[in-house]
Amino acid sequence: MATTSEIAPDNPPPLHVLVVGGGPSGLATAIAVSLAGHRATVFEATPPRYPLQGSGVITCPNGARLLSRWGLEEGPDHWHRHVPIEHWQLCNRLGAPLGPDLITSGTGGGGDDERGEEGGNNNISSSDSDHGTSIPTHKTKAPPPWAWKRGDLVAKLRQRAIKLGATVHLGTRVTDVRHEEGSGDGAGGVRIRLHGGEEHRGDLAVVAQGTHSRLRNTLLDQPLEPVATGYTAFRMDVSQSGIVNPSPKLVAFMDGPPSVRTWVGQGSYVTVHPMDKAGLLSLLVLVPGALQQHNEDIIPQGKLIRYLKGWDDMIYSMLDAADAQKEWTATHLPALPEPRHSPQGTSVLVGDAANTMSHFLSQGLSLDLEDAATLGCLLGHVRNAAQVPAATALYSRIRNERAQRLRDMTAVFESQLRATPSDGFVNGAEGLGPEGELRSSFGWSYDAYAEAEKAFNSDPF
Ligand SMILES: Cc1cc2nc3c(=O)[nH]c(=O)nc-3n(C[C@H](O)[C@H](O)[C@H](O)COP(=O)(O)OP(=O)(O)OC[C@H]3O[C@@H](n4cnc5c(N)ncnc54)[C@H](O)[C@@H]3O)c2cc1C
Repeated sequence: MATTSEIAPDNPPPLHVLVVGGGPSGLATAIAVSLAGHRATVFEATPPRYPLQGSGVITCPNGARLLSRWGLEEGPDHWHRHVPIEHWQLCNRLGAPLGPDLITSGTGGGGDDERGEEGGNNNISSSDSDHGTSIPTHKTKAPPPWAWKRGDLVAKLRQRAIKLGATVHLGTRVTDVRHEEGSGDGAGGVRIRLHGGEEHRGDLAVVAQGTHSRLRNTLLDQPLEPVATGYTAFRMDVSQSGIVNPSPKLVAFMDGPPSVRTWVGQGSYVTVHPMDKAGLLSLLVLVPGALQQHNEDIIPQGKLIRYLKGWDDMIYSMLDAADAQKEWTATHLPALPEPRHSPQGTSVLVGDAANTMSHFLSQGLSLDLEDAATLGCLLGHVRNAAQVPAATALYSRIRNERAQRLRDMTAVFESQLRATPSDGFVNGAEGLGPEGELRSSFGWSYDAYAEAEKAFNSDPF
């Protein structure tokens, strides 16, 4: 249901928001801006017929809540699975579940629109594991996570943005963003330049260029570049039909309800989830150390199989069948931009361009969607272009606080991971550390619209 912030302002003409980057956060921004009654134009550098890139992505409940609100549901061409929350299981490296109290009561809403597709409403009272261990849980109203192929997510967001009235230009690279002084009414604006020289004028530019954003430093006082986290990441697609002699446990995982399994131990992290109708799994492995140290093998899976010797044998079977492996040095932004808007307040950063952090809590995408929702919600209160800087300043404040907290939690998780004994975190609720906190009311139950409304009401512009 539309709230006041999603209803177009009656009198004033809508703002024109120029979005640089048509990845998940740029497209989500276009959706949120359109729902707020404004006009969004997205410029995406990738050419129209270029296949959508990427492997699996997970939207945590805090992000899934927004996708439902924006009207994204499963369609015949673009597939995702709702993962019942009790089926996102954190295990030690041997596959024993860590817990016991994985889920605590959610505070952020809930209702019919947050029901899982499996017919359940994720009001969980108990769950089991394939080890026969009962994990006691409290009731939660957090919506289920969604597991995707990145390409399907981007296609679906693009389709929704266009349906809501946004314009999406593909094959269009933005080379510059400049503030433009106001004239008569004092309201400034922004001008972007495209590769080839064409220019567009708008009331606000949203830079959603991802981790390696080139325009970020034209907005910020302090230059900011991503740096290596000290982890090497391996992302693989695993076809279920290609797995030879899967163990009973792996068969149960593949045949059971859609599930996410995460293993931790020896400073390393492995996670798997389904990502398409055809039974493709997405497998992500993060190991400490620089890329070069792991680079001497001819068969990349071979070095991972050796590295993960003694881990849950489910992992071996998947590594054996894995193809399309991608290996890269994981990066993050060494500090978060403070503020994340230009001095004049007419350009802002959203998504990975502002938030990039380590993968451990799977929060990157959800945090990016929250950025879009927060900005859209605040722009819903803007009555004229002169109010844009106040809206972007409030956006910066809300999002920096939130991202910093998640970043701190991620850092704690990482330091616990590095310090873990070989069999993973100690068993027990305290062993979950930040993962447990994340699944509590602060993390997964965060409602970006509700928080932005609250901040606006206590500090209106
Ligand atoms: C190719 C690719 C593959 C990925 N694969 C995975 C994956 O398998 N699993 C996973 O969890 N995460 C993956 N990610 C990261 C994940 O999508 C992001 O963490 C997250 O969704 C943030 O999205 P974003 O929109 O902020 O940034 P991004 O997803 O990085 O999107 C930024 C977009 O901006 C465009 N762009 C950049 N510069 C310009 C410019 N000057 N003008 C116009 N457009 C520009 C890029 O082409 C890109 O589409 C991938 C990202 C990319 C770009």
